[in-house]
Amino acid sequence: MNSNAVIAIHGGAGTILRTSMSASAETGYHAALNAVLSAGQRVLADGGSALDAVSEAVRLLEDCALFNAGHGAVYTAAGTHELDAAIMDGRTLDAGAICCVKRVRNPILAARRVLERSDHVLFTGDGAEAFAAAQGLEFVDNGYFDTDARYRQWQLAREQQRPMLDHDAATLASTASSNDDPTPHEPIDPNRKFGTVGAVALDRHGHLAAATSTGGVTNKQVGRVGDTPLIGAGCYADDATCAVSTTGAGEMFMRMVAAYDVAAQMAYRQVSLEEAAHDVVMNRLPKIDGRGGLVAVDARGNVTLPFNTEGMYRGFARLGEAPVTAIYR
Ligand code: ASP
Repeated sequence: MNSNAVIAIHGGAGTILRTSMSASAETGYHAALNAVLSAGQRVLADGGSALDAVSEAVRLLEDCALFNAGHGAVYTAAGTHELDAAIMDGRTLDAGAICCVKRVRNPILAARRVLERSDHVLFTGDGAEAFAAAQGLEFVDNGYFDTDARYRQWQLAREQQRPMLDHDAATLASTASSNDDPTPHEPIDPNRKFGTVGAVALDRHGHLAAATSTGGVTNKQVGRVGDTPLIGAGCYADDATCAVSTTGAGEMFMRMVAAYDVAAQMAYRQVSLEEAAHDVVMNRLPKIDGRGGLVAVDARGNVTLPFNTEGMYRGFARLGEAPVTAIYR
């Protein structure tokens, strides 16, 4: 049994300013991250697989309105939600992903079924939904993913006629007090905001897994797909090296094949997890203005959570230890 079992998660990166974060909002984020980490930790403590731990963590993050995945996902240019998710098993290199789904309540569960019950790796749109339906997964109306805060953010993006990356401080703040939306004032700069959720884990059997899920970017064109559901870009796991989940400007992470690059650097350059991840996030991505971050774990239980933005919602939990969560640099 591997005593280094650990889970790490993220809930998006961006210009997270301490000055614009109310004490209660900050407490809310820490509490949400802690609850998810504790759930993942329980799966690992019970001898569950890394795959089970990351599935459960991402499912919970999808259900939490604070983050841009599942309920609380951003809006497309058509005022709808299109969701992407991927999961990978480091033990076998099996992977599953879905993109552009509109009615699957938990996209990560659909990705997991693709991994386990299909000969394919990635399904899109109608085909993905047909597969999920055949698997008996829960369906919801697209409006289930609505939140007032994201709606206002979308309105602002439309006025400015541009896609926006996830959270927007001004719009989310202005809606914080309205109706039943639990999304608090979110302190992320309008032009520098990334969402997405993800998890990586090492289980007690020594296996790795990674999972990532997102609503994409606000006001994105219908049909746009980012890095999240692309194996190697937004998600990667290989027991021989590491498990990685990313968040940030998806197009840049795709062009850099960011998640795989961390694993490849470890394999080919024989550098540590920390050095490989640091190089991708701090050196390579910035060359093409790739803002964001990642969480990663290796087969020895080393964890790294680098980001090149001002903050990233993040945390990790080792067995028998209290979860550690953080927001700012
Ligand atoms: N990487 C995600 C995407 O481009 C967005 C994000 O991380 O916020 O779809």
